[in-house]
Amino acid sequence: MASLAPLKRGLTGRCPNCGDARVIRTVWEIKDECPACHYSYVREDGYWVGAMTVLMALMLGGFAAVIITGFVMTWPDTPVMPLTIATFLSTLVIGSLAYGWAKTIWVGIDLSFNPASDAEQAKMDARRAAAGEADGAARD
Ligand SMILES: [Zn+2]
Repeated sequence: MASLAPLKRGLTGRCPNCGDARVIRTVWEIKDECPACHYSYVREDGYWVGAMTVLMALMLGGFAAVIITGFVMTWPDTPVMPLTIATFLSTLVIGSLAYGWAKTIWVGIDLSFNPASDAEQAKMDARRAAAGEADGAARD
């Protein structure tokens, strides 16, 4: 059974692997790796197609929310052109500002169903050690 904890952490914009650090760098980008657990967000070619799918779902959700709200609030005299412009603008704004968030959500979905492997955990430990954060370093 998949754990949805990584997805929940991704929905908050934090590292889906550990949840200890914010990893959204700009509206378009996330950091190359988590500053806390050193999980790498540099993935294989094509990995971010999933994030684009998440972004399209967010845009579709925004589109539906605006158009349904517009129809419900103005029925039966719905102003078609202003509502069309409002839905277009909301979709444009979400598409422009939410790609970084879509990436953390996508990594959360991926980690929920495909947790970090032992090999990946070993790479994170090596990066943590290289960064001087080896276990026990703070106690010495
Ligand atoms: Zn992390």
